[in-house]
Amino acid sequence: MQDLKQQAFSEFDLIARFFTPPARGGTVGVGDDCGIFSVQPGFQLAVSTDTLIEGRHFYADTDPEDLGHKALAVNLSDLSAVGARPRGCLLALSLPAVDIQWLEQFSAGFLALAQAADCLLIGGDTTRSVQGISMTVTVLGEVPIAQALLRNRALPEDDIWVTGALGGPFTALQMLAGRWPRDEQVLAQVLPRLQRPVPPYQWAPELIGHAHAAIDISDGLVQDLGHILQASQCGAELFFDRLPLHDALGQCSQTEQMEAALTGGDEFELCFTAPQGSRAYLLDSARKAGVAVERVGVITRGDALTVYGADGAPIDSVFEGFDHFS
Ligand code: ADP
Ligand code: MG
Repeated sequence: MQDLKQQAFSEFDLIARFFTPPARGGTVGVGDDCGIFSVQPGFQLAVSTDTLIEGRHFYADTDPEDLGHKALAVNLSDLSAVGARPRGCLLALSLPAVDIQWLEQFSAGFLALAQAADCLLIGGDTTRSVQGISMTVTVLGEVPIAQALLRNRALPEDDIWVTGALGGPFTALQMLAGRWPRDEQVLAQVLPRLQRPVPPYQWAPELIGHAHAAIDISDGLVQDLGHILQASQCGAELFFDRLPLHDALGQCSQTEQMEAALTGGDEFELCFTAPQGSRAYLLDSARKAGVAVERVGVITRGDALTVYGADGAPIDSVFEGFDHFS
């Protein structure tokens, strides 16, 4: 990159100061032409990339530390969705100007999560943008050969599970946008779920060999489960009263709860399917890892997705009210 070099604070100073975690264990990290690390024998590389653009995926006034965290978190979520263990990441950053304070906070948020997830920053690119900030994060993970959790692996009679608690990010977005009445107490509870999502990156590899299909919930449970159903050519039954709702939703109406839990995106939790024989293992292993898991439905033959309400009756008609559902 040429243009940042003309500034008093050069591109190389910037990379050295903010984006050079110590390399370790034979890994070649930031500062060489490629990052290099070994994959264990018997494993494959799992790779995913996501871009966040100012004005589209985040606002200019977003807390830089939250943003650094989230830029990596949304990518770790993709690794979790195939059961891969995080190994390394790359960060391509495009900035309109060098803002030291912003960079300090952004890199702190990014590197803290990278360290927690054992996902070493091994390279990237730094460029000057014409307008606004954008960032592309690429993550590399490892997964046992031919055992990744894919969308097309669900089988009839599999249980459907979700991790975490649903509806928090959706509720936060509705209140911030003024579509739902703003309740400061509720907002304070759900905002962290929107700003600093924590996908179950540590536990996800333990699903290998025990779960069949998986996806991360980024567009809403119904829509994301729909991708599994389509790829696996199956149907499903979901039970609303089994869905783990975020605590703060206790004060919302049932219609709001359903909308939030079934259609709310930005969760970065997992939805996965597993044979009934895996129940005991899954509950035990999730408990040990401190991950909340809930069995919320079952995969069926056919192609219909039916959601049953608390009264046991199908509630498909409710969806007609959700304009973003169709
Ligand atoms: P090259 O000219 O070979 O592309 P650069 O000058 O772009 O190298 O980058 C120098 C080194 O810094 C490389 O190792 C690159 O991977 C790394 N790097 C550049 N930008 C970032 C960033 N934002 N985060 C992490 N590493 C980065
Ligand atoms: Mg470069």
